[in-house]
Amino acid sequence: MTDVLIIGAGIVGASCAWRLSQAGLSVKILDRAAPGSEASQAALGVLTFHGRPDTMPEPMRMLARKSRDYYPAVIDELEEVVGERVYFRQEGQLILGINEDDLASLEETLSVNLDEGVELERATPEEALILEPNLNPEIAGALYSPNDGWVDNTALTQAIVRAAQQAGAVFEQAEVDSIEDNNGQIASVRAGETLYESDWVVLAAGAWSGQIWNVPVKPRRGQAYSVEGSYFERVIHSPRAYIVPRDNAQTMLGATVEDVGFNASNTPDGLGFVSKGAFEISPTLETSKFSGAWAGLRPGTPDDLPIIGSTTDFPNLVIATGHFRNGILLAPITADAVRRIVVGEVPSFDLAKFSPDRMSLRR
Ligand SMILES: Cc1cc2nc3c(=O)[nH]c(=O)nc-3n(C[C@H](O)[C@H](O)[C@H](O)COP(=O)(O)OP(=O)(O)OC[C@H]3O[C@@H](n4cnc5c(N)ncnc54)[C@H](O)[C@@H]3O)c2cc1C
Repeated sequence: MTDVLIIGAGIVGASCAWRLSQAGLSVKILDRAAPGSEASQAALGVLTFHGRPDTMPEPMRMLARKSRDYYPAVIDELEEVVGERVYFRQEGQLILGINEDDLASLEETLSVNLDEGVELERATPEEALILEPNLNPEIAGALYSPNDGWVDNTALTQAIVRAAQQAGAVFEQAEVDSIEDNNGQIASVRAGETLYESDWVVLAAGAWSGQIWNVPVKPRRGQAYSVEGSYFERVIHSPRAYIVPRDNAQTMLGATVEDVGFNASNTPDGLGFVSKGAFEISPTLETSKFSGAWAGLRPGTPDDLPIIGSTTDFPNLVIATGHFRNGILLAPITADAVRRIVVGEVPSFDLAKFSPDRMSLRR
């Protein structure tokens, strides 16, 4: 019997395990595979709040901004606890309009963000090229967001796992089949012949969450690849692709968003799509040296918002999934919310908008 049983040891589940163990609770976390081996290692680690209204609807922008601003403190604390560096950079982001048609979306992004008091400024193509000389010299326009950045999501997830273990969380390999209820309470979690009993259960099984409980989470495949060499200082976004630097002289290029079920393969078509978008940003990359490709399954939801909170029918079941394209960015704020729910504190943001009971999730 534990205080909290967490299903899924991706960045979301591991972050919850860290925060809940720190709060003095006994925590067990079940994963069928090695911690951090699914979407959390396939991500590119972009920590940007670019607020494009079409790709990041409210209330996501509020949540994304809050979590991004929380990141520096989380990294400091984590590095202190595990005694290792987690590669994290806040060098800003350029959001590009490659052609004249992209400019309307840039202007909309600028006006929405300025209305919300977000730091974002126009940069002329010349100014953007001074910041990043490897950009396509033909770009039509740019915005500069000074406080965005990136993190090495693989190193980060492994550091969070170690911090959780140091705080007392127990990681166990087990494939969960179901969550079992009894008279309006979650009573146990079944994995094969084993029943795990716990006061609280947190469902954080990423794209597979809907196989374990009735949540409308669907896999959305993302394909990405890397090339050798350092071409950019900061994250570069266009409407069709994005490029993320790393400290180890690698450059990451992403990403597709595809509905192909639980299929995490790379395809020539997917990588071709990424190349097309990335080469618009920087034709220099066309002759760079390819160093590896991968794909992962993001946990998507019908309204593209994460599902965070207790269910009305089962108050001791907390859902923490559906983070779609922003699970790395949102893991710290999600874990903080889950800890507060379990220990009975008021969450730091309005959870109703992300509730498992919200209308758009009913089916
Ligand atoms: C190509 C790509 C690029 C991305 N880029 C970014 C980015 O730049 N920034 C960003 O913020 N986000 C990004 N994301 C999204 C991000 O990766 C996800 O939102 C995030 O990793 C989700 O974390 P998670 O812990 O919910 O899921 P996962 O990391 O997938 O973890 C779920 C865990 O549950 C386990 N599990 C599943 N079923 C069971 C079961 N039955 N029993 C036991 N364990 C089970 C799995 O083994 C897995 O370890 C990207 C994703 C992709 C694919």
